[in-house]
Amino acid sequence: MNTASPDIRPGSGLSGLRAEQLARGALFLVLAALPLWIHTPFALGLLTLLAVYGILLIGLDVTVGYLGQVNLAQAAFLGLGAYAGGLLADAGYALPWVLLGGLAIGLVLGALLALPALRLEGPQFALATLSFGALSVIVLNELEGLTGGAQGLNVPRPPLFGMKLDSAAFYWLCLALLAVVWEGMNRLLKSHFGRSIEALRDSPIAADALGLGVFRRKVAAFAIGSALGGLAGALHALNFAYLQPSAFGYDLMVLLLLGVVLGGRKNLWGAFIGAALVALLPNLLSNIVLFRGLVLIGLVLAALAALRDYRSHKLHLVKSGVPLAAMALTVALAFGSGSPEDWRRGIFALILLSAVVGLPEGLAGAMASLLTRWLKLAPEPLPAPAERASVLPERPHQGGLVLSADNLVKRFGGVTAVDHSSIRVNAGEVLGLIGPNGSGKTTMINLISGLYTPDEGVIEVDGVRPAPGSLFSASRAGVARTFQNLQLFAELSALENVTVILGPGRESAAQGLALLALVGLESKARLRARDLHYGEQRFLEIARALASRPKLLILDEPAAGLAHPDVQRLVELIARIKRTGLPVVLIEHHMDVITELCDRVTVLDGGKVIAEGLPHEVKKDPKVLEAYLGADVSAEVKEEQIEAVHALAAGGAAC
Ligand code: ADP
Ligand code: MG
Repeated sequence: MNTASPDIRPGSGLSGLRAEQLARGALFLVLAALPLWIHTPFALGLLTLLAVYGILLIGLDVTVGYLGQVNLAQAAFLGLGAYAGGLLADAGYALPWVLLGGLAIGLVLGALLALPALRLEGPQFALATLSFGALSVIVLNELEGLTGGAQGLNVPRPPLFGMKLDSAAFYWLCLALLAVVWEGMNRLLKSHFGRSIEALRDSPIAADALGLGVFRRKVAAFAIGSALGGLAGALHALNFAYLQPSAFGYDLMVLLLLGVVLGGRKNLWGAFIGAALVALLPNLLSNIVLFRGLVLIGLVLAALAALRDYRSHKLHLVKSGVPLAAMALTVALAFGSGSPEDWRRGIFALILLSAVVGLPEGLAGAMASLLTRWLKLAPEPLPAPAERASVLPERPHQGGLVLSADNLVKRFGGVTAVDHSSIRVNAGEVLGLIGPNGSGKTTMINLISGLYTPDEGVIEVDGVRPAPGSLFSASRAGVARTFQNLQLFAELSALENVTVILGPGRESAAQGLALLALVGLESKARLRARDLHYGEQRFLEIARALASRPKLLILDEPAAGLAHPDVQRLVELIARIKRTGLPVVLIEHHMDVITELCDRVTVLDGGKVIAEGLPHEVKKDPKVLEAYLGADVSAEVKEEQIEAVHALAAGGAAC
């Protein structure tokens, strides 16, 4: 009997998902009831700002959290949406049109900005969004005829279906929209789409190499995030009734980033907590007593965290020290200077610093892991694994070429890494690709899998020629590969690493579990890839490559760094894959592994093929011995030595 899945732990019986829904329901009930006690337009305006910033930061979290890019344009999208909505309201349009106008301008400009900007990486992307933000403020200022420039723009609040909206009614409208956006984005980001943009964040190369299609999804995600910024902007305009371009500049941008990071990335609760901080922090600074109280609490928390780290012998100079020092400085500023408002930016920067270092998962992340432990929340149950044959089918043994890579050349400046070399793989065969370090093996694989464009030569996979230099196209043609330096989707769970490639739905989860079982990782399905042991990560990469249902599997030094029992398991796994008839290219230093598994071997040296043939023949080939040893000794001695060299190479890699 195997009904008790290892994943259903004894606990409160409450699933994490259900607990989250309940907590969210309770939160919105409380928020909706607040106007029963709070009547002043100022306080209601602040609450409305909280709801509006909630929508704004959920949008920002799409790029900062899920896409993993530093997006400095969200304040500008708030401004652009505010002016679009404000001008529509001014022209007498009904409220739904005002909101749609804000949403549309965010969506369109977001997509237009994403097209060039997302081709850039890291700091360049951040700079592109920064320029967009600066430019937007300038344009809003200069289009005086339309926006009123620095004079500002007065915005009337149009009625909704004939009803005039007072402060409370408008707050409820914003709250309802926040609830809809939260639920909608929750579904979208937990869906296959959400997993795939996270995969892109963790390894664009692997995402592309396994056929996820990188660019379209990135642009879509950025445009959605910006559209939410625009929608928030339109609501913001109607809330404040007066707009000035300078409000959407540098200060707000820093504050928004602070909100997302401190609240918690990749977490819509984090966006909400961040919104609460951003909406309230500037007001807190003016209430000196409240502000001093809160920074004191921050200091105490940082001290407690350091104490806990000290007790568990995990005290780390930077991780524990920096938040403590930064919070101490904040406290000094809050108590020492008469008007902390003058120190505004400095104080935000200090809080941001302690959050980035001390709370990598943000407040929401820290709270979620505490609650999960205290309430013993159970994860959602997993389906039963599918039949192995559904993910790794037997292929009929027909002859014919699966791969022909002819006359490939790849130069890097003066180095010719691959020099007029060809390899061929027949149906059902395991081809060993060996050669000394730097002989061009990995470069060869990078050409075949489309990571590099060959300078010369032709690649054909199962009768089709993938576009040269396109990982995606090679993947479509049936090539799947692993990487010598692991390229996992580190933040995704082991199961998600596989299902993101298999596709959406419960059936794919069942198949994903079958693949994990194949590589011996079914009990680790829920662990994040980055929390797996090194050897497990190597096996997970093979499972993920199989998930793309390849016609050819390429393994680049899969045994590198594995302990001996794991090498044994790896050999068994490759043998099992071979028995299904899936052809494999295996780069490997362990000569015994090559001899045991490979039907044929191709030897590279200095980018050239120097030998081809059966494993035991190749081992004796004088040219091969020469390549590995270079010395002029007898064949028998060399053969002994080459085994020793291989063993050394393998042992060296294991260190
Ligand atoms: P192997 O995998 O057989 O150890 P590689 O294919 O990694 O060898 O490297 C072959 C040669 O090409 C080496 O001299 C290496 O320095 C060079 N090389 C590989 N990739 C690059 C690159 N991206 N830029 C410059 N040189 C490279
Ligand atoms: Mg290599």
